[in-house]
Amino acid sequence: MTDLPVLDHWIDGAPAAGSSARTGPVYDPALGEVSKHVRYASAADVDTAVAAARAAFSGPGGWGRASIAKRQQVLFGFRELLNSRKDELAAILTSEHGKVLGDAAGEVARGLEVVEFACGMPHLAKGAYSDSVSTDVDVYSIKEPLGVVGIISPFNFPAMVPMWFFPIAIATGNTVVLKPSEKDPSVANWMAGLLAEAGLPPGVFNVVHGDKEAVDALLVHPDVASLSFVGSTPIAKYVYETGTAHGKRVQALGGAKNHMLVLPDADLDLVADAAVNAGFGSAGERCMAISVVLAVDPIGDELIGKITDRMGKLVIGDGRRSCDMGPLITREHRDKVAGYLDVAPADGATVVVDGRGVEVDGAADGFWLGPSLIDHVPTSSTVYRDEIFGPVLSVVRVSSYAEGVELINSGDYGNGTAIFTNDGGAARRFQKEVQVGMVGINVPIPVPVAYHSFGGWKASLFGDAKAYGPAGVDFFTREKAITSRWLDPSHGGLNLGFPQNE
Ligand code: NAD
Repeated sequence: MTDLPVLDHWIDGAPAAGSSARTGPVYDPALGEVSKHVRYASAADVDTAVAAARAAFSGPGGWGRASIAKRQQVLFGFRELLNSRKDELAAILTSEHGKVLGDAAGEVARGLEVVEFACGMPHLAKGAYSDSVSTDVDVYSIKEPLGVVGIISPFNFPAMVPMWFFPIAIATGNTVVLKPSEKDPSVANWMAGLLAEAGLPPGVFNVVHGDKEAVDALLVHPDVASLSFVGSTPIAKYVYETGTAHGKRVQALGGAKNHMLVLPDADLDLVADAAVNAGFGSAGERCMAISVVLAVDPIGDELIGKITDRMGKLVIGDGRRSCDMGPLITREHRDKVAGYLDVAPADGATVVVDGRGVEVDGAADGFWLGPSLIDHVPTSSTVYRDEIFGPVLSVVRVSSYAEGVELINSGDYGNGTAIFTNDGGAARRFQKEVQVGMVGINVPIPVPVAYHSFGGWKASLFGDAKAYGPAGVDFFTREKAITSRWLDPSHGGLNLGFPQNE
């Protein structure tokens, strides 16, 4: 620990060591080595960050009252800086997450989309005006910021997921405390520095690192108005229940188990490409990864052949080299995911490709697991039911479209799904019948663009508000309706009845 750098929090526009002595290791997953340590905030550190955010928000000179022009200027500046230095961010991301550089660049690009969306806030956050609703009376509504907003993000998208929220939060006049994943925390500080360079005043964007202790402090803090959480379902539920019990507005996005339904008329080469890309991209550590392929009879064998061929061509290794797939996030997670390859045969499934012992272009101690394919997975098996969150793709054979849809709809999650078919009628029926928040038609990872909103159904989202897009603008603002009359008060007169419009 002594020789390695220690990553500080970022509070009130500068790095801050905080008061807690607790730290945790940050790994380079491709090397399997600790690369630095990160501070773990205490409740007192969280309080310091919230106080800085509160002070930056408040008062006539505060961010909460900054003009739209000022806020927009900062966001445009951030957009320009980020765009010109995105490779630097991608490299930091790869060194702590492990995803290959091209994938990291893709993550940054999708985050940039939300920054660009937030640059349009003057139009998006317009209120409404009704002239002369009664004699000489006008009514208008305006959108005001909430105050200090909390963001808690997962390890798998350390740049993009915070960017789902903070550009919109900042553009609407809120101030932010971000608690990133402790597994790949550096990206958050890097973005904080860039926001400062873009002219964001100190205290508007703060980062506290840590674990449950920091999260719990945010959940109950009286000066935190809202929480935007992304992570696993049990924690999402906990955050939603605890945050709302403490009077906060909460959106909590959880886990997933995404199915791809393949009808017999589909183009199986397109399907095989999509299944491999969506199953093994980012080593399967995506909430929108395809985890289960539902092959409608009789195409199962042919599809398995095509997927297997493609899997054989993938290069696994260090994301800084020209590989297709990198390591998993930690040794523990790799071992947990690999464990499903033992569960599968015990449950009666067939392991077609076993990724354990895969040859890699990388260090021997990296957290490797090669792409794995399991066929004939029984729906009673934990391989089918659990969110595995790794490079393990399951195939379930179904006899009909209806059986496939029934399986998707009976699952606990409802994040993403996709149908592959050349039958427009079947696709349209699927769109109507499937109980899932984000649906792809011949598109395996249907992450909506920034001007729509992102979020699943059922155990994939707790709360009513999806992330970014119009839902994000609504989440980070509250509406105030003003009824106004400019008359000489002496013309009013006494009237204790309920106001009626004339
Ligand atoms: P996680 O739930 O372990 O952690 C998420 C955040 O919660 C982290 O900041 C972590 O420090 C904190 N946390 C962890 N345990 C906690 C506890 N007991 N109490 C309070 N806070 C706690 O998730 P992860 O492993 O970082 O990320 C992977 C998960 O995130 C997967 O389930 C994935 O599906 C999900 N995810 C969902 C979406 C979505 O949009 N629905 C997007 C990305 C990731």
